[in-house]
Amino acid sequence: MRNIITLACTECKRRNYNTTKNKRTMQDRLEMKKYCKFCKAHTLHKETK
Ligand SMILES: [Zn+2]
Repeated sequence: MRNIITLACTECKRRNYNTTKNKRTMQDRLEMKKYCKFCKAHTLHKETK
């Protein structure tokens, strides 16, 4: 059971990435350090709906 989730940059709030996660093994909100082309830097990206 894998769900498609969207990762949004916490700096500019843009949605940069789509990924999937297993809802059963990952109950917490996903947070990832990813490159944001709008901020031109690595920023924290958080799961959004
Ligand atoms: Zn950004």
